[in-house]
Amino acid sequence: MNTQNPSVSERFSAFRSAVNPPPTKKIEKIKNASGKEAAISEYFGCMTFGLAQMREKLPKDAYNSLLQTLEKGKKLPKESADAIASAIKEWSVAKNVTHFCHWFQPMTGLTAEKHDAFISIQHSYHSELRVIERFTGSQLIQGEPDASSFPSGGMRTTFEARGYTAWDPSSPLFIIEEESGNTLCIPTVFFGYHGQALDNKTPLLRSIEVLSREGCEFLKLVGDVDVKRLQVTLGSEQEYFLIDKNLASLRPDLIMTGRTLLGTSSTRGQQLEDHYFGSIPSRVNKFMQEVEFELYKLGVPVKTRHNEVAPSQFELAPIFEDVNIAADHNLLTMEVLKRIALKHGMVCLLHEKPFAGVNGSGKHNNWSIANDKGENLLEPGTTPHQNLRFLAVLAVTLKAVYKHADVLRTSIASPGNDHRLGANEAPPAIISVFLGSMLEQILNNIEAGKANKATDQQIIDLGASQIPTISRDYTDRNRTSPFAFTGNKFEFRAVGSSANVAVPMSILNSAVAATFKECTERLKEILKKKTNRDEAIMELVREISKETKAIRFEGNGYSQEWRTEAKKRGLPILSTTPEALKVFNNKKATQFLVDTKVLSQEEIASRFHINVERYVKTLDIEFMTLHELVKGFVIPAVEKQLIQVGNAQSVMKSLSIKKVHKGRLEELENNFVDILKCLEAFEKVVTKSQGLHDEIARMDLIVTQVVPAAEKLRTACDLAETLVSDEFWTLPKYREMLFSNTLTS
Ligand code: ADP
Ligand code: MG
Repeated sequence: MNTQNPSVSERFSAFRSAVNPPPTKKIEKIKNASGKEAAISEYFGCMTFGLAQMREKLPKDAYNSLLQTLEKGKKLPKESADAIASAIKEWSVAKNVTHFCHWFQPMTGLTAEKHDAFISIQHSYHSELRVIERFTGSQLIQGEPDASSFPSGGMRTTFEARGYTAWDPSSPLFIIEEESGNTLCIPTVFFGYHGQALDNKTPLLRSIEVLSREGCEFLKLVGDVDVKRLQVTLGSEQEYFLIDKNLASLRPDLIMTGRTLLGTSSTRGQQLEDHYFGSIPSRVNKFMQEVEFELYKLGVPVKTRHNEVAPSQFELAPIFEDVNIAADHNLLTMEVLKRIALKHGMVCLLHEKPFAGVNGSGKHNNWSIANDKGENLLEPGTTPHQNLRFLAVLAVTLKAVYKHADVLRTSIASPGNDHRLGANEAPPAIISVFLGSMLEQILNNIEAGKANKATDQQIIDLGASQIPTISRDYTDRNRTSPFAFTGNKFEFRAVGSSANVAVPMSILNSAVAATFKECTERLKEILKKKTNRDEAIMELVREISKETKAIRFEGNGYSQEWRTEAKKRGLPILSTTPEALKVFNNKKATQFLVDTKVLSQEEIASRFHINVERYVKTLDIEFMTLHELVKGFVIPAVEKQLIQVGNAQSVMKSLSIKKVHKGRLEELENNFVDILKCLEAFEKVVTKSQGLHDEIARMDLIVTQVVPAAEKLRTACDLAETLVSDEFWTLPKYREMLFSNTLTS
């Protein structure tokens, strides 16, 4: 606060400091052996302990039994576990680690840590205390946190309120560096006494397993006889907003809910579309450099950085990895983004829709499958066999999305994403697949039994069947599609920016695994009639192409016509989280999750309850915050303005501008009355919802009555923002929050 000039509101001084941010501390670069600044390749992953480090540092026996565990699921012998723990301890102590934690992903969508000290205090013979660094195999492999505060959706009754964590050796251990000390994080799964998943990682690991197994069966029939394992790959692009901390700190809504509950759009939003290719403000650039530096140390392969469409919105894209590691890495990325932003005097908003009227943030999940030779199965190949395989896997994916569109929609449902989906350039809540005109045409031709025209693509004539050669289609990119094919992978774009990608990825993998199984059976049937394998595969592709027509959409997903059309096609239209969550109660819809053993009915039910509870709690917090804002900020500001205008009017009684001024007073008065009316209506439905004991009934009332009442109240308050003098408005405005970055040097 500027004490020199007390009349200037805090808002003004916050803006002033936002455009003149203090210089950021230089990054302490890592030096290499020759004392020079180390190249990225020299320090990439230096804070991680994964398979590569284990191969180097573990005794041979221990390493081999670890491989057996990873590849064949064998139990890790105690001696090996102890040897591994000992190597980890030595490495960690050398990196100044004092504590370790089991890092896991409870169903609340965030990460959680259970910390323990590395040291063990022992009484020696002379009863003096002896402190030693101690870390055993059993501490590494399994921990038992006091987990009663983590949600289990009713699965754990209190008498067995125990959650167990178990090391996931397929994801590298990593060290989080903080001024207070370094902590070793052990990626773990979290489960109940009877093995029920209490986290988001367990289902993901199960889904990878089953996709690999079912996929291999299918591919063997397609002709890849020696395929042993499949890998799911994921590159998760992360969008986020960066707002100056001084300004954010004056917005209780940003602090409490991560989004603005009030605020009129600035006169300039993103209509000029000049932000995307604009240069990145240097303040942001410095932040990005430090984020990358931290992520490189943690072995996260981030690659590109650029502005996004909205002002103050940015994106970070990693290079794809194994989906389990990529999911962990995305969680780490979100943590690093938030932590480093604060260091640079900014707040990183990962909410799906922090600002009304400008683009929201998503997480584009680039997903594909590779075989054990490292070949991307969704990459059109150079040989007829690769092309055939490509078409077959493409067809399986199409069918999976078609058949399980409702559960896929549910997998991305969150209160934040409700504001994003279907608004401002975000994909709609209706799941559809975009293939691009070239692939569409190929499928249509296959369907019609027509030879593909040589002008469109080359044909390989195998005598009995014709397989088009398929090249990567760079031409059209449909930004409006929630699930788009982008040349050699699918991009699941409907995922929200704050989501744990393990959730949608485990559902997608499970859907594809179930469809691989279905298609294996179908292909076997077709092969009974058609002996030529290539022809049989083409027949399957033809059938699936016909079956999945409804889910394929090449047009504008943002348009109102698409909603009408989607309805006609019978696609699930689940506009809000409450509607989407109810799919979890539909046993028929979720049966594939049970069949693939990714989630049991009990686990599905628990996820339903947790999500309902989260929805209700999140919205309750928003409602209470909105209430506070209206009473504590908006109404007092309008009152001040009313007094000022009223006073001015009495001064001007005799002047000719009196009439004009009367209009101004009326306008304010109407707005004031409107705010009070909307507030009253809002309070009434909030009280009604709080009186309900049944969570599902509350959720339904919230979405049908409280949310609309809150929106009305917001509209009235946003009008007030335009009527009230800038001086009386204490909440930082959109223009200040979104554009201060552009003024920094
Ligand atoms: P494009 O611009 O053609 O969409 P990029 O190379 O920029 O593709 O990649 C976008 C994202 O997709 C990156 O995160 C990248 O690592 C990821 N990606 C590329 N290939 C694959 C793949 N086979 N599987 C999963 N993700 C992939
Ligand atoms: Mg993007």
